Amino acid sequence: MEKVIITCAVTGSIVVPTQTPYLPITPEQIADEAVKACEAGAASVHIHVRNPEDGRPSSKLELYEKVIKDIKNRSNVIVGITSGGSPEMNAEQRIEPARVYKPELASFNLGPVCTNASFIAKKYKDSDYKFAWEKDFLRLNETHIMQNSYRELDIFAKTLVEANTKPECECWDISQIYNAAFYYKQELLKPPVWLQFVTGPLGAIGSHYSDILHLKNTAERLFGAGNYHWSLIATGLEIFNVAPLAIMLGGNIRVGFEDNIYIEKGKLAKSNAEMVERIVRVVKDMGREVATPDEARTILGLKGKDKVNY
Ligand SMILES: [Zn+2]
Repeated sequence: MEKVIITCAVTGSIVVPTQTPYLPITPEQIADEAVKACEAGAASVHIHVRNPEDGRPSSKLELYEKVIKDIKNRSNVIVGITSGGSPEMNAEQRIEPARVYKPELASFNLGPVCTNASFIAKKYKDSDYKFAWEKDFLRLNETHIMQNSYRELDIFAKTLVEANTKPECECWDISQIYNAAFYYKQELLKPPVWLQFVTGPLGAIGSHYSDILHLKNTAERLFGAGNYHWSLIATGLEIFNVAPLAIMLGGNIRVGFEDNIYIEKGKLAKSNAEMVERIVRVVKDMGREVATPDEARTILGLKGKDKVNY
């Protein structure tokens, strides 16, 4: 079996600073966490940026540029840029950083996402919040749908082809694997297709073993062995429970503060690297090896760090 690719999503756009003091916010902190995640065993990092003053998710190009240049100077890690953005951004804003910087990887959400993290807001009193924007931002989830209409998917797919950036196909349900196959047939996704299965959050498929098997079997049937690779984003602590199953089935793993803030029940993770290290132990205990960034580039058929536009 091929080596296991560990992806680390270092900050995301759902977790708010009040939830954990360890969330990286400034460009320096985000780059630092990415470099350390790679040193711990991550081959790839998935990047969002935040306003350095208050941690609010941002789409500012200068913040992306700062982060990805810093990472490139300090590490060989593969950089993937989000096109998921945050609930406050439109499709053009979401794909803009990938269009401009042409990274090796960029996320591509394959259909509508109606998720809800507003229950987190119920845990806090108004006086608990570190920043004024956080409460309303969490509540926005109750009414927001990340639309990802087919017109938007066309824009994302074509933009990434033009940038020679491999789409990281985020599939939140079985139907979205069919959408990936739809773009594969149009040759807007090229083999090997890189799938990230998002399981666990409200609005997505679950992280039960039968869900994970169904996702994997559907991908195998639609793309055929050898034409795709998949990775699991099981949100919350569940990732540590289901990672062995995904690895056994030939899958890869994503961890990081975007998806989970705990290292064990009731105990906050102190860094992204800590979560990566826990997955590295799982991989090694199973007699498998962790892919280096260059090995992951070969497995995924990426263009290489020297062909990005930053
Ligand atoms: Zn993301």
